[in-house]
Amino acid sequence: MKLNVDVLRYLSKDDFRVLTAVEMGMRNHEIVPAELIDRIASLKHGGTYKVLKNLLRHKLLHHDSSKYDGFRLTYLGYDFLAIKTMVNRGVFTAVGRQLGVGKESDIFEVQQEDGTVLAMKLHRLGRTSFRAVKSKRDYLRHRSSYNWLYLSRLAALKEFAFMKALEEHGFPVPNAVDCNRHCVIMSLVQGYPLVQVKQLQNPATVFENIIGIVVRFAEHGLIHCDFNEFNIMIDDDEKITVIDFPQMVSVSHRNAQMYFDRDVECIFKFFKKRFNLSFQETTNDIYGSDVDTDETDWPCFSSIPKTAGFLDKELAASGFTRNDQDDIEKFIEGGIEKDANSEDEETDDEDVSELNDTNVKSLNSLRLVEQVEPSLSKQEGEYEDGQKCETGD
Ligand code: ADP
Ligand code: MG
Repeated sequence: MKLNVDVLRYLSKDDFRVLTAVEMGMRNHEIVPAELIDRIASLKHGGTYKVLKNLLRHKLLHHDSSKYDGFRLTYLGYDFLAIKTMVNRGVFTAVGRQLGVGKESDIFEVQQEDGTVLAMKLHRLGRTSFRAVKSKRDYLRHRSSYNWLYLSRLAALKEFAFMKALEEHGFPVPNAVDCNRHCVIMSLVQGYPLVQVKQLQNPATVFENIIGIVVRFAEHGLIHCDFNEFNIMIDDDEKITVIDFPQMVSVSHRNAQMYFDRDVECIFKFFKKRFNLSFQETTNDIYGSDVDTDETDWPCFSSIPKTAGFLDKELAASGFTRNDQDDIEKFIEGGIEKDANSEDEETDDEDVSELNDTNVKSLNSLRLVEQVEPSLSKQEGEYEDGQKCETGD
C-alpha cells in the first residue's frame, strides 16, 4: 500500500475541506455528484472544481462520470483524513515504515513528538473481498453507498473498543491509544509474530500461557476467532501479546463452540508441528462428544464458567453498539468462513490494486507537523449512527 504522506504537507485547507465534503457526500452516494461536493464544501471564493482536480491528481479521489460527474474517496483519501485528524489532535507527528500487511489492514509505525514510536493500523475491510461486501449489501441496512468506509470504520471502532476493554481486564494486548475513522493507534509491540519464531526456550510454558489466554477470553465472554501464530506476538523474554480483534465474538454466538475449538486447534497444531510438543489429545477428534477433558490438555468450552455480557456492557460504553456488532459480524463471518477454505478473492477495485505496492519512507523524511498547512477550521458532520465526522482542529 502506497502511503506517500509527503503530499499531506502540501494539501491546503481548501483541499481538506473538499475531501471532507466528498466523505460526507458518501453517506448517501456511492459516487458523490460534483455539484453536491461544491455545495457541501461551499468554499468562500469558489474553486471546488480546481481542488477536485488536484485531489484526483494525488489519487485521493476517484472520478466517475459514467452516470453523472461524480467522485468518491480512495483508501488513500480516507487515510489522509484520518491521519490529518490524528496529527491535529497531537496523537503523533510523523509516519514511518510499514510494519505489516495484514489480510485486511496495513500497519505503519508512527512517531510522537517525544520520539515514542506507536503502531497505526489502517483497516481495509473489503480489500480481499470486495465482492463479498457487494453481495452483502442487504445485510448492511442498505448502506451500499459507503460499504468499505463504513465497514473499515466499524472494524477500527470495534478493535479499539476491545483492545481497551481487554487491557483493562489485564489481558496482554497493545495499549489502545486512539481511534479515528478506519485508523487505530496502539502501542508498538516489541517482538515478532509467533509464526516467525523457529525456537523457544520454554515451548511448553508458552503454549500453556497461550491456551490460558483463550480460556480467560471465554471466561470473560469472548472468543478471539482468529487466534493463531500470526496474531500472537512474542518477545525475547517469551512474553506474549495478542493482537487483531475485529472478528471477536461473544460466547453466546451460535457458533461459539466451533470458533473456540478452532482457536484452540490452531494453537495445538502449531505447537505440535513447530515445536514438537506432544499432547494427550490429538486434534483430530476434537469435535467428537466423547472427548474426556479431564484426561486431555484440551480445554472444554462447555465447562468454562463464563461471564456473559462483557460485550454488551463494556463495549456499548465505548460507543460500539449492538447494531455495529451485528453489522460487522455478518460481514466478517463470511470472511471467517471463506478463510477456512483459504481462498482469498482478488479485489476488483482499481484503486486497491493501484495502492498495493509498498512505498516505505524513513521517519525523518516524513515529519508532518511543521509542514502541514494551518489547521482546518473545525467542521463536523454526523454519520447516520451519530458518530462525528471530524476533520481536525
Ligand atoms: P490483520 O487484521 O490485517 O491481520 P494485524 O493486526 O494482525 O492485521 O497486523 C498485521 C501485522 O502487523 C502483524 O502480524 C504484526 O506483524 C504487525 N503488527 C500489528 N500490530 C502491531 C503492533 N501493535 N506492534 C507491532 N507490530 C504490529
Ligand atoms: Mg492478523
